[in-house]
Amino acid sequence: MAQLETYPPGGRRVVRPATVTFCPNCGELVGRGYPDCVICAERIDDLWWADWQVLLESEKIRPGTDEEGGLARKVLSDEVGRHPWTCTDWALWLLRCGRCGGQLGSGDSGCMACAAADQARWAWDYQALPDAMTPNEHALRVAVAGLRAPHRHRGSVVTGWRLALPFLFVGDLPTTAQTQRIRGHVLAGRYAELARQQGFAAMACLPDLPWRAQNNSGAVHREPDAQPDQH
Ligand SMILES: [Zn+2]
Ligand SMILES: [Zn+2]
Repeated sequence: MAQLETYPPGGRRVVRPATVTFCPNCGELVGRGYPDCVICAERIDDLWWADWQVLLESEKIRPGTDEEGGLARKVLSDEVGRHPWTCTDWALWLLRCGRCGGQLGSGDSGCMACAAADQARWAWDYQALPDAMTPNEHALRVAVAGLRAPHRHRGSVVTGWRLALPFLFVGDLPTTAQTQRIRGHVLAGRYAELARQQGFAAMACLPDLPWRAQNNSGAVHREPDAQPDQH
């Protein structure tokens, strides 16, 4: 079987920021407002759009045309690994589900067509990890897909993705132990405390006893210059 360009990487055309910053629109760390905040959405989706744009140009198709919809359907029907995973996601985002009318793969939680479309995309990851896709890219993809379809997931899981996305975006990845600790804090209703932390390690290291504010000013302590954990 000819190996033309199987599993072309996705999301690597845009240089990602080295550190987390605050979004000038929603005021949260960039990514945390995804996808409702336009700036957070633009910054994150840029990784996906860059790949889709290259595909459009190679096919000589203009965005917003019927031809683009046709290309999206072709991408989803092509064999797994033919296109970057980002293009598969973008194709899903462009198309409407014929059964529930929602965004394909992100529609009604009970829609079987959406469930099938969503499930099909993950074959890429299982076959491409860890080279053509890094664990960080996989986690980023999972978080973005989940945040685009929050009604299809448990609230605590969605909250975990929201907390994680700014740090995933800059290339960080939590350990399994950190993920479990953070999940426990989310289930304990400590989102506000978690949202003030500057990385997975800090979120995981919240003291077990709830931190009590010395005053009730409501001021949020921000450390925009703090470095996320590198690995
Ligand atoms: Zn934002
Ligand atoms: Zn559907």
